[in-house]
Amino acid sequence: MCQNHTTTTRVLSVASAKAPFERTTLERRELRPHDLLIDIQFSGICHSDIHSAFDEWGGGIFPMVPGHEIAGVVAAVGSEVSKFAVGDRVGVGCFVDSCGECEYCLSGEEQYCTRGVVSTYNALDYDGNPTYGGYSQKIVVTEGFVVRIPDALSLDVASPLLCAGITTYSPLKHWNAGPGKKVAIVGMGGLGHLAIQFAHALGAEVTVLSRSLNKKEEALSFGADHYFATSDPATFTELAGRFDLILNTVSANLDVDAYLSLLRIDGTLVNVGAPAEPDQYRVFSLIMGRRSIAGSLVGGIRETQEMLDFAAEHGIAPQIEVISADQVDEAYQRVLKSDVRYRFVIDVATL
Ligand code: NAP
Ligand code: ZN
Repeated sequence: MCQNHTTTTRVLSVASAKAPFERTTLERRELRPHDLLIDIQFSGICHSDIHSAFDEWGGGIFPMVPGHEIAGVVAAVGSEVSKFAVGDRVGVGCFVDSCGECEYCLSGEEQYCTRGVVSTYNALDYDGNPTYGGYSQKIVVTEGFVVRIPDALSLDVASPLLCAGITTYSPLKHWNAGPGKKVAIVGMGGLGHLAIQFAHALGAEVTVLSRSLNKKEEALSFGADHYFATSDPATFTELAGRFDLILNTVSANLDVDAYLSLLRIDGTLVNVGAPAEPDQYRVFSLIMGRRSIAGSLVGGIRETQEMLDFAAEHGIAPQIEVISADQVDEAYQRVLKSDVRYRFVIDVATL
Protein backbone atom coordinates (compact mmCIF):
# COMPACT_ATOMS: atom_id res chain seq x y z
CA MET A 1 0.00 0.00 0.00
CA CYS A 2 1.88 3.07 -1.21
CA GLN A 3 0.92 6.58 -0.54
CA ASN A 4 2.23 9.59 -2.41
CA HIS A 5 0.64 12.34 -0.36
CA THR A 6 1.19 13.84 3.07
CA THR A 7 -0.97 12.74 5.99
CA THR A 8 -2.76 15.13 8.30
CA THR A 9 -2.58 14.18 11.96
CA ARG A 10 -4.00 15.53 15.18
CA VAL A 11 -1.32 16.46 17.71
CA LEU A 12 -0.86 18.00 21.14
CA SER A 13 1.55 20.85 20.87
CA VAL A 14 3.08 23.59 23.02
CA ALA A 15 3.58 27.00 21.37
CA SER A 16 6.44 28.09 23.63
CA ALA A 17 8.32 26.98 26.74
CA LYS A 18 5.88 26.13 29.59
CA ALA A 19 2.83 27.05 27.47
CA PRO A 20 -0.21 24.80 28.00
CA PHE A 21 -0.81 21.99 25.52
CA GLU A 22 -3.25 22.66 22.72
CA ARG A 23 -4.81 20.43 20.12
CA THR A 24 -3.76 21.22 16.58
CA THR A 25 -2.90 19.39 13.35
CA LEU A 26 0.20 18.95 11.24
CA GLU A 27 1.25 17.18 8.07
CA ARG A 28 3.41 14.07 8.15
CA ARG A 29 5.67 13.69 5.11
CA GLU A 30 4.65 11.56 2.16
CA LEU A 31 6.02 8.06 2.38
CA ARG A 32 9.52 7.51 1.07
CA PRO A 33 10.36 3.97 -0.14
CA HIS A 34 11.43 2.78 3.34
CA ASP A 35 8.88 4.73 5.40
CA LEU A 36 6.05 3.42 7.55
CA LEU A 37 2.93 5.37 8.42
CA ILE A 38 2.04 4.39 11.97
CA ASP A 39 -1.32 4.86 13.69
CA ILE A 40 -0.17 5.73 17.18
CA GLN A 41 -2.33 4.33 19.97
CA PHE A 42 -0.39 5.19 23.13
CA SER A 43 2.37 7.62 23.95
CA GLY A 44 4.18 7.63 27.30
CA ILE A 45 5.15 10.79 29.16
CA CYS A 46 8.87 10.81 29.92
CA HIS A 47 10.44 13.36 32.25
CA SER A 48 12.59 14.35 29.23
CA ASP A 49 9.36 15.62 27.60
CA ILE A 50 9.00 18.02 30.53
CA HIS A 51 12.65 19.14 30.45
CA SER A 52 12.14 19.79 26.71
CA ALA A 53 8.68 21.42 26.72
CA PHE A 54 9.82 23.69 29.58
CA ASP A 55 13.05 24.33 27.62
CA GLU A 56 15.14 23.49 30.69
CA TRP A 57 17.97 22.09 28.55
CA GLY A 58 17.90 25.08 26.17
CA GLY A 59 17.66 25.09 22.37
CA GLY A 60 13.99 24.09 22.29
CA ILE A 61 12.29 24.19 18.87
CA PHE A 62 8.72 25.52 19.16
CA PRO A 63 5.96 24.77 18.52
CA MET A 64 6.88 21.38 20.00
CA VAL A 65 5.07 18.05 19.95
CA PRO A 66 6.85 15.88 22.53
CA GLY A 67 6.64 12.11 22.87
CA HIS A 68 9.23 9.39 22.30
CA GLU A 69 7.51 6.39 23.85
CA ILE A 70 5.33 5.50 20.89
CA ALA A 71 3.27 2.35 20.41
CA GLY A 72 0.93 1.78 17.50
CA VAL A 73 0.04 -0.17 14.39
CA VAL A 74 1.43 0.11 10.86
CA ALA A 75 -1.17 1.79 8.63
CA ALA A 76 0.73 2.04 5.33
CA VAL A 77 4.16 1.11 4.01
CA GLY A 78 6.49 2.64 1.42
CA SER A 79 7.25 0.83 -1.84
CA GLU A 80 10.47 -0.83 -0.62
CA VAL A 81 9.58 -1.67 2.96
CA SER A 82 10.70 -5.21 3.71
CA LYS A 83 10.59 -5.65 7.47
CA PHE A 84 7.00 -4.61 8.28
CA ALA A 85 3.49 -4.96 6.91
CA VAL A 86 0.21 -3.14 7.46
CA GLY A 87 -1.28 -4.25 10.78
CA ASP A 88 2.03 -4.95 12.55
CA ARG A 89 2.27 -3.77 16.18
CA VAL A 90 5.25 -1.48 16.41
CA GLY A 91 7.13 0.97 18.57
CA VAL A 92 9.25 4.07 18.05
CA GLY A 93 11.59 5.43 20.67
CA CYS A 94 13.82 8.45 21.08
CA PHE A 95 15.26 8.78 17.59
CA VAL A 96 14.08 8.39 14.00
CA ASP A 97 17.20 8.65 11.83
CA SER A 98 20.99 8.51 11.86
CA CYS A 99 23.73 8.57 9.21
CA GLY A 100 23.88 4.78 8.90
CA GLU A 101 27.56 4.89 7.97
CA CYS A 102 29.66 5.84 10.98
CA GLU A 103 31.23 3.25 13.27
CA TYR A 104 28.49 3.66 15.87
CA CYS A 105 25.63 3.30 13.40
CA LEU A 106 27.34 0.25 11.91
CA SER A 107 27.71 -1.31 15.35
CA GLY A 108 24.02 -0.75 16.16
CA GLU A 109 24.52 2.19 18.52
CA GLU A 110 22.77 4.78 16.39
CA GLN A 111 22.19 7.00 19.42
CA TYR A 112 25.89 7.92 19.29
CA CYS A 113 25.92 8.62 15.50
CA THR A 114 28.81 10.97 14.71
CA ARG A 115 26.67 13.01 12.28
CA GLY A 116 24.15 13.42 15.08
CA VAL A 117 21.19 11.16 15.65
CA VAL A 118 17.82 12.71 14.71
CA SER A 119 15.65 12.83 17.81
CA THR A 120 11.98 11.94 17.51
CA TYR A 121 10.97 15.50 18.43
CA ASN A 122 12.59 18.85 19.18
CA ALA A 123 15.21 18.28 16.49
CA LEU A 124 15.84 18.99 12.82
CA ASP A 125 15.97 16.05 10.45
CA TYR A 126 18.69 15.78 7.79
CA ASP A 127 16.53 17.89 5.42
CA GLY A 128 16.33 20.63 8.03
CA ASN A 129 12.68 20.03 8.93
CA PRO A 130 11.63 19.98 12.60
CA THR A 131 10.64 16.60 14.00
CA TYR A 132 7.39 16.16 15.92
CA GLY A 133 6.86 13.34 18.37
CA GLY A 134 4.31 10.93 19.71
CA TYR A 135 1.62 13.12 21.32
CA SER A 136 0.01 12.59 17.98
CA GLN A 137 -2.25 10.14 16.15
CA LYS A 138 0.05 9.40 13.22
CA ILE A 139 3.76 9.46 12.54
CA VAL A 140 5.97 8.59 9.56
CA VAL A 141 9.24 6.83 10.40
CA THR A 142 11.77 4.99 8.26
CA GLU A 143 11.60 1.25 8.96
CA GLY A 144 15.13 0.97 10.34
CA PHE A 145 14.07 2.97 13.39
CA VAL A 146 10.95 0.98 14.18
CA VAL A 147 10.79 -2.04 16.47
CA ARG A 148 8.30 -4.86 16.80
CA ILE A 149 6.16 -5.11 19.93
CA PRO A 150 5.90 -8.72 21.13
CA ASP A 151 2.37 -10.16 21.36
CA ALA A 152 2.73 -10.62 25.10
CA LEU A 153 2.88 -6.84 25.64
CA SER A 154 -0.22 -4.70 25.23
CA LEU A 155 0.46 -1.43 23.41
CA ASP A 156 -0.27 0.83 26.39
CA VAL A 157 2.12 -1.11 28.63
CA ALA A 158 4.72 -1.37 25.88
CA SER A 159 4.98 2.36 25.20
CA PRO A 160 7.14 3.36 28.22
CA LEU A 161 9.60 0.63 27.35
CA LEU A 162 10.57 2.56 24.20
CA CYS A 163 12.44 5.12 26.30
CA ALA A 164 12.34 4.31 30.02
CA GLY A 165 12.87 0.63 29.28
CA ILE A 166 15.83 0.85 26.93
CA THR A 167 17.45 3.70 28.88
CA THR A 168 17.75 1.46 31.92
CA TYR A 169 18.27 -1.91 30.19
CA SER A 170 21.19 -0.68 28.07
CA PRO A 171 23.50 0.54 30.89
CA LEU A 172 22.60 -2.45 33.08
CA LYS A 173 23.80 -4.71 30.26
CA HIS A 174 26.81 -2.54 29.39
CA TRP A 175 28.08 -2.49 32.99
CA ASN A 176 27.34 -6.20 33.46
CA ALA A 177 24.57 -6.12 36.03
CA GLY A 178 24.05 -9.80 36.73
CA PRO A 179 24.67 -12.61 39.21
CA GLY A 180 27.13 -11.64 41.94
CA LYS A 181 26.73 -7.91 41.28
CA LYS A 182 25.29 -5.46 43.78
CA VAL A 183 23.35 -2.79 41.92
CA ALA A 184 21.66 0.30 43.35
CA ILE A 185 18.88 2.13 41.56
CA VAL A 186 18.56 5.77 42.62
CA GLY A 187 15.11 7.32 42.14
CA MET A 188 11.98 5.24 41.67
CA GLY A 189 10.08 7.00 38.91
CA GLY A 190 9.38 5.99 35.33
CA LEU A 191 12.94 4.89 34.62
CA GLY A 192 13.70 3.65 38.13
CA HIS A 193 10.77 1.25 38.49
CA LEU A 194 11.77 -0.43 35.22
CA ALA A 195 15.45 -0.48 36.19
CA ILE A 196 14.54 -2.49 39.29
CA GLN A 197 12.73 -5.08 37.17
CA PHE A 198 15.50 -5.38 34.57
CA ALA A 199 18.33 -5.55 37.13
CA HIS A 200 16.45 -8.24 39.06
CA ALA A 201 15.71 -10.27 35.91
CA LEU A 202 19.39 -10.02 34.91
CA GLY A 203 20.26 -11.66 38.23
CA ALA A 204 21.79 -8.77 40.17
CA GLU A 205 21.19 -8.06 43.86
CA VAL A 206 19.08 -4.90 43.67
CA THR A 207 18.88 -2.08 46.20
CA VAL A 208 16.53 0.87 45.73
CA LEU A 209 17.56 4.28 47.01
CA SER A 210 14.47 6.49 47.12
CA ARG A 211 13.94 9.69 49.09
CA SER A 212 11.30 8.25 51.42
CA LEU A 213 10.03 4.86 52.50
CA ASN A 214 6.73 5.44 50.64
CA LYS A 215 7.50 3.18 47.68
CA LYS A 216 9.10 0.31 49.61
CA GLU A 217 6.36 -2.26 49.19
CA GLU A 218 6.09 -1.67 45.44
CA ALA A 219 9.87 -1.72 45.03
CA LEU A 220 9.99 -5.16 46.63
CA SER A 221 7.15 -6.33 44.38
CA PHE A 222 9.19 -5.18 41.34
CA GLY A 223 12.06 -7.41 42.49
CA ALA A 224 14.18 -5.21 44.76
CA ASP A 225 16.10 -7.10 47.44
CA HIS A 226 16.66 -4.05 49.68
CA TYR A 227 15.22 -0.57 49.99
CA PHE A 228 16.58 2.49 51.79
CA ALA A 229 15.43 6.08 52.20
CA THR A 230 18.07 8.61 51.21
CA SER A 231 16.46 11.22 53.47
CA ASP A 232 17.90 9.19 56.37
CA PRO A 233 21.63 10.04 56.77
CA ALA A 234 22.19 6.61 58.35
CA THR A 235 21.59 5.07 54.91
CA PHE A 236 24.89 6.47 53.65
CA THR A 237 26.82 5.12 56.62
CA GLU A 238 25.23 1.71 56.44
CA LEU A 239 25.76 1.26 52.69
CA ALA A 240 29.28 2.72 52.40
CA GLY A 241 31.43 0.81 49.88
CA ARG A 242 28.59 -1.59 49.00
CA PHE A 243 27.79 -1.35 45.28
CA ASP A 244 29.44 -2.42 42.03
CA LEU A 245 27.10 -0.22 40.06
CA ILE A 246 24.79 2.67 40.88
CA LEU A 247 22.27 3.69 38.23
CA ASN A 248 21.11 7.24 38.86
CA THR A 249 17.71 7.95 37.30
CA VAL A 250 17.04 11.21 39.16
CA SER A 251 15.95 14.28 37.18
CA ALA A 252 17.62 16.70 39.64
CA ASN A 253 21.18 17.19 40.90
CA LEU A 254 22.29 14.92 43.74
CA ASP A 255 25.10 15.04 46.29
CA VAL A 256 27.39 13.07 43.97
CA ASP A 257 30.12 12.56 46.61
CA ALA A 258 27.61 10.91 48.92
CA TYR A 259 26.62 8.42 46.23
CA LEU A 260 30.22 7.78 45.15
CA SER A 261 30.97 6.79 48.75
CA LEU A 262 28.54 3.89 48.33
CA LEU A 263 30.64 2.31 45.55
CA ARG A 264 33.13 -0.50 46.03
CA ILE A 265 36.64 -0.12 44.66
CA ASP A 266 36.31 0.05 40.83
CA GLY A 267 32.59 0.72 41.12
CA THR A 268 30.76 2.96 38.65
CA LEU A 269 28.08 5.59 39.07
CA VAL A 270 26.14 5.72 35.81
CA ASN A 271 23.93 8.74 35.19
CA VAL A 272 20.87 8.43 33.02
CA GLY A 273 18.94 11.16 34.86
CA ALA A 274 19.63 14.41 33.04
CA PRO A 275 19.35 17.52 35.24
CA ALA A 276 19.82 20.83 33.46
CA GLU A 277 22.45 22.15 35.88
CA PRO A 278 26.00 20.74 36.16
CA ASP A 279 26.82 18.23 38.88
CA GLN A 280 29.63 18.84 41.37
CA TYR A 281 31.89 16.30 43.02
CA ARG A 282 35.31 16.02 44.64
CA VAL A 283 37.91 14.25 42.50
CA PHE A 284 39.06 12.52 45.69
CA SER A 285 35.74 10.65 45.76
CA LEU A 286 36.97 8.91 42.59
CA ILE A 287 40.69 8.65 43.33
CA MET A 288 40.33 7.01 46.71
CA GLY A 289 38.44 4.04 45.26
CA ARG A 290 39.46 3.97 41.57
CA ARG A 291 35.80 4.76 40.96
CA SER A 292 34.16 6.02 37.75
CA ILE A 293 31.37 8.37 36.85
CA ALA A 294 29.65 7.63 33.55
CA GLY A 295 26.57 8.45 31.52
CA SER A 296 24.42 6.55 29.04
CA LEU A 297 21.99 7.62 26.31
CA VAL A 298 18.95 5.43 25.61
CA GLY A 299 20.08 2.44 23.47
CA GLY A 300 20.38 1.35 19.84
CA ILE A 301 17.60 -0.10 17.73
CA ARG A 302 18.88 -3.69 17.89
CA GLU A 303 19.19 -3.50 21.66
CA THR A 304 15.73 -1.90 21.93
CA GLN A 305 14.26 -4.94 20.17
CA GLU A 306 16.28 -7.23 22.46
CA MET A 307 14.93 -5.32 25.49
CA LEU A 308 11.30 -5.66 24.34
CA ASP A 309 11.74 -9.39 23.77
CA PHE A 310 13.46 -9.74 27.17
CA ALA A 311 10.62 -7.82 28.86
CA ALA A 312 8.01 -10.04 27.23
CA GLU A 313 9.91 -13.18 28.19
CA HIS A 314 10.44 -12.13 31.83
CA GLY A 315 7.04 -10.54 32.47
CA ILE A 316 8.59 -7.10 32.89
CA ALA A 317 6.08 -4.30 32.48
CA PRO A 318 5.78 -0.69 33.53
CA GLN A 319 3.03 0.19 35.96
CA ILE A 320 1.04 2.79 34.05
CA GLU A 321 -1.79 5.28 34.45
CA VAL A 322 -3.56 5.87 31.14
CA ILE A 323 -4.75 9.47 30.71
CA SER A 324 -6.61 11.47 28.08
CA ALA A 325 -5.18 14.31 25.99
CA ASP A 326 -6.91 16.81 28.31
CA GLN A 327 -4.90 15.64 31.29
CA VAL A 328 -1.36 16.15 30.00
CA ASP A 329 -0.69 19.55 31.63
CA GLU A 330 -1.89 18.16 34.95
CA ALA A 331 0.17 15.00 34.44
CA TYR A 332 3.32 17.12 33.96
CA GLN A 333 2.68 18.82 37.30
CA ARG A 334 2.16 15.45 38.94
CA VAL A 335 5.43 14.07 37.48
CA LEU A 336 7.23 17.14 38.85
CA LYS A 337 5.83 16.33 42.29
CA SER A 338 6.80 12.64 41.84
CA ASP A 339 3.08 11.93 42.11
CA VAL A 340 3.05 9.22 39.46
CA ARG A 341 3.06 5.45 39.84
CA TYR A 342 4.97 5.08 37.65
CA ARG A 343 4.32 6.28 34.13
CA PHE A 344 1.57 8.32 32.52
CA VAL A 345 0.55 7.07 29.10
CA ILE A 346 -1.63 9.17 26.79
CA ASP A 347 -4.46 7.37 24.99
CA VAL A 348 -4.05 9.30 21.75
CA ALA A 349 -7.52 8.30 20.55
CA THR A 350 -8.68 11.06 22.93
CA LEU A 351 -6.93 13.66 20.77
P1 NAP B 1 10.48 10.61 36.93
O1 NAP B 1 9.41 9.63 36.63
O2 NAP B 1 10.11 11.99 37.33
O3 NAP B 1 11.43 9.94 38.03
C1 NAP B 1 12.50 10.62 38.62
C2 NAP B 1 12.63 10.14 40.08
O4 NAP B 1 13.74 10.84 40.64
C3 NAP B 1 11.45 10.50 40.95
O5 NAP B 1 10.44 9.54 40.92
C4 NAP B 1 12.10 10.58 42.32
O6 NAP B 1 12.23 9.28 42.88
C5 NAP B 1 13.49 11.08 42.03
N1 NAP B 1 13.61 12.53 42.25
C6 NAP B 1 12.92 13.52 41.65
N2 NAP B 1 13.32 14.72 42.10
C7 NAP B 1 14.29 14.49 43.00
C8 NAP B 1 15.11 15.32 43.79
N3 NAP B 1 14.99 16.67 43.78
N4 NAP B 1 16.03 14.74 44.59
C9 NAP B 1 16.15 13.40 44.62
N5 NAP B 1 15.38 12.56 43.90
C10 NAP B 1 14.48 13.09 43.10
O7 NAP B 1 11.43 10.81 35.66
P2 NAP B 1 11.87 9.76 34.53
O8 NAP B 1 10.95 9.87 33.38
O9 NAP B 1 12.13 8.45 35.16
O10 NAP B 1 13.25 10.42 34.03
C11 NAP B 1 14.31 10.59 34.95
C12 NAP B 1 15.44 11.39 34.34
O11 NAP B 1 16.04 10.62 33.29
C13 NAP B 1 15.02 12.71 33.68
O12 NAP B 1 16.03 13.68 33.94
C14 NAP B 1 15.02 12.37 32.20
O13 NAP B 1 15.22 13.49 31.37
C15 NAP B 1 16.18 11.43 32.14
N6 NAP B 1 16.21 10.54 30.96
C16 NAP B 1 17.41 10.29 30.41
C17 NAP B 1 17.51 9.41 29.36
C18 NAP B 1 18.85 9.05 28.81
O14 NAP B 1 18.94 8.54 27.68
N7 NAP B 1 19.92 9.23 29.55
C19 NAP B 1 16.36 8.85 28.81
C20 NAP B 1 15.14 9.11 29.42
C21 NAP B 1 15.06 9.96 30.50
P3 NAP B 1 11.96 8.97 44.44
O15 NAP B 1 10.61 9.56 44.74
O16 NAP B 1 12.02 7.50 44.47
O17 NAP B 1 13.07 9.62 45.22
ZN1 ZN C 1 12.44 9.58 27.49
